[in-house]
Amino acid sequence: MTSASLRTARFVSGSLLAVSALSAAGLALAQSAPSVDRTQWSALHCDGAPARQAGLLQVTVAGGTERDHRFTCAAAKRALGFFLGHGLVPTSRLRIEFREAVFLDLAGCMGAAGVDPAPCDTAVTAGAVNAGRAPGESSHAERVVGAFHPGSETALVTTEASPWLRTYTYFGLAMNEEMFMSVLTHEITHALSKSLYSPAARAADLDIHVQEEYVAYVAQLSTMSRDLRSAVLARFPAGTHRFKDETDINALSLGLSPEPFGVMSYRHFISDAGGLGFLHRIYCGEYRPPFQVLY
Ligand SMILES: [Zn+2]
Repeated sequence: MTSASLRTARFVSGSLLAVSALSAAGLALAQSAPSVDRTQWSALHCDGAPARQAGLLQVTVAGGTERDHRFTCAAAKRALGFFLGHGLVPTSRLRIEFREAVFLDLAGCMGAAGVDPAPCDTAVTAGAVNAGRAPGESSHAERVVGAFHPGSETALVTTEASPWLRTYTYFGLAMNEEMFMSVLTHEITHALSKSLYSPAARAADLDIHVQEEYVAYVAQLSTMSRDLRSAVLARFPAGTHRFKDETDINALSLGLSPEPFGVMSYRHFISDAGGLGFLHRIYCGEYRPPFQVLY
C-alpha cells in the first residue's frame, strides 16, 4: 500500500458548512434501496449536531441507504467530538460514496473494480482491508469496507445493505452497526485530521501515512461503544499487542497487520506516551516514523 503524503494531499481551508439540521432540499432520507447515482451528491445534514461542531465539517453523500446516512451523521459527530475533546479544531469537506462493493488494489487505486474506474491515486488510505474478492475481480484488488482518497477528499464505503458485510469480520468480530459506524468514523477522521498539520509540517513535505492511520484508529477505537471496544481489545491481548516504544509505530507494523496496529495505536495513545502531547508532535511534524529495512 502506498502512502498518504502532505505532498499529495489537497488541503481544504476556508469557511465550511455545518453538520446541522436537515434541510427540506437535502437528502432523500426516504430512500431505502442502495441504488447509487454517482452524479447526484447531496449535502448531508445531521439533526442534533452540537452547536460547537457547526462550521467544521461538510459531508456530501451519494448512494447508500437511509441507515448509511444516519450512521454517517453519527460517525461525523464522533470524529469531530474526538478532536474537539482534545482541544483540536479540524475542518474538512468530505464526500462519501456508498457502493455495493469497494476494492483497493496494491497500487493504491480504489473503486468498484470491473464496474467503475473510480478515482485512482497513489495516496489512498484503506480501512478494514479484507482478502475477500468478488468473482472475476482482479487478483490484486482487495475488497474493503471503506477507503479514503485524500486527493479528492472522497471516501468510498460499502453500503450497510451489502450482504457481504454479513459475513465480514473486522478486528476478529462480526460486523454490526456499531462496528460499521466505527469504520465510518475512521474514514471521516482521515478527512478531518489532514487539516490539523502545522505550516511547518506542511513545509517539511512529510509522508503522513503512518501518522494518519494511527490517528484514525485511535479515533475509531476511542469513540466506539465501551462494550465493543472491550471486545476488540480482548481479541488482541495487551501482553502481545503493545508497541514496545514509538519506533514500533511504523509502516512495517501497519502494513503487516493493520488491525493489530490499530489496537496497539489505541493502547499507545491512552498511555503516558500518547494523548494530546503525541497528537501535537504528529501535527507539528515532530513525530516521524522510522524507516525500517526489511532485509
Ligand atoms: Zn485509514
